[in-house]
Amino acid sequence: MSALNPTPPQSREPIAVPSVQPLHQILPGEPLLMMGAGPVPIPDAVARANGQVINHLGATMSTIIGQVKSMARYVFQTRSQWVMGIAGPGSAAMEMAISNLVWRGTRVLCLDNGYFSARMAEMCRRCGGDVRLLECEAKAQADIDAVVRAIDEFCPECVTLVQGETSNTICNRNLDCIAAEAKKRGCLTIVDAVCTLSTMPLEMDNWQIDAVITGGQKGLASIPGVSLLAFSEEAWKRIHRRPTTPVHWCLDALLAENFWHKGSYHYTAPVSGVLALHEALRLVCEEGLSERFERHQRCSTALQNGIEAMGLKLYAPGACRLNSVVGIEVPEGVANSDICAQMSRKYRVEIAGSFGLPIVRVGQMGEQCRAQNLYRTLHAIGCTMRDLQVPVDLPSAMAELEICLLRGE
Ligand SMILES: *Cc1c(COP(=O)(O)O)cnc(C)c1O
Repeated sequence: MSALNPTPPQSREPIAVPSVQPLHQILPGEPLLMMGAGPVPIPDAVARANGQVINHLGATMSTIIGQVKSMARYVFQTRSQWVMGIAGPGSAAMEMAISNLVWRGTRVLCLDNGYFSARMAEMCRRCGGDVRLLECEAKAQADIDAVVRAIDEFCPECVTLVQGETSNTICNRNLDCIAAEAKKRGCLTIVDAVCTLSTMPLEMDNWQIDAVITGGQKGLASIPGVSLLAFSEEAWKRIHRRPTTPVHWCLDALLAENFWHKGSYHYTAPVSGVLALHEALRLVCEEGLSERFERHQRCSTALQNGIEAMGLKLYAPGACRLNSVVGIEVPEGVANSDICAQMSRKYRVEIAGSFGLPIVRVGQMGEQCRAQNLYRTLHAIGCTMRDLQVPVDLPSAMAELEICLLRGE
């Protein structure tokens, strides 16, 4: 190959200083309103915390880590002590959960609702797991009978599934039943709650879930790059039984225990991000989970009704529709990229396209669920549709939003 494509001779000159623009010339003067599928807008307290650097070890950090864990236990609704953070995206938390519980030959049943739940299957395969994929029907949550049948046939040691499949806005509302059926059959359940945690109920202990994964930048309204993970006692025992040490040193849960439970060193914690996460969790605790769920439900429902009143169609059927991320069908003759670009350029609101589906997605996580953000976003969607020659009833949409929000007070 090198004979066919010889590398061009390299200059021996020193590499010159590149010419770059300062950030303020690249970033918009006024930040765009982040209404996509994450990252979401962060509260001031989170932004201020993220601007500080402190020692990653020592008494102050210990106090902060202690509080992060106890607040996380509240948010996960677990008494398990095995709560820890990860320097990395939600996917790193996912990889940490999987690479510590799945090894060569582990039988894993992976419920596939779409892009993110399929990622868990891929990670299980890379760990050498014996993976059976159970594909869920399009626009439907996982079918409990099919799951039970698959468990009975395949006898997996672990089951992976997503609570809310952000990619296509389908929610497995029967997560509690699935976890209970899996537990009855001796399986550990690994749940991706990246976009849903703190936006809708998830009771790790009561539902008998063994690992819950979340990211910072979605439901928790923190920054991307620091994530959280909780293992049940049973999962922790399995980790102690693993036959070999995991390949990925950074993701080794037993090494992470040094930092998250023993006040010593594993790797240098992303201190600013941990401070930000602390503040995000504190705000969740201050609001209270049930209040927070109610706010998400009320705002998302109002937005969904407004979108329908405009004359647009929602992608997911009501019975399995995710509230944390709302999927809107793209009208005939327009591309979702055109909608997102116009929204961003003209109305300064960012929403998301999707992974191949003809939909656009509007997030309803954390600070995205505030009345002022809903009005601005719904109005921007309506105006964008008009700009793109799609007939919509914008006044009805805005009225519907107002009525729903009022009714919900
Ligand atoms: C965003 C998301 C992920 C991936 O999170 P990253 O932080 O991008 O790695 C995984 N699962 C779900 C359900 C998500 O919404």
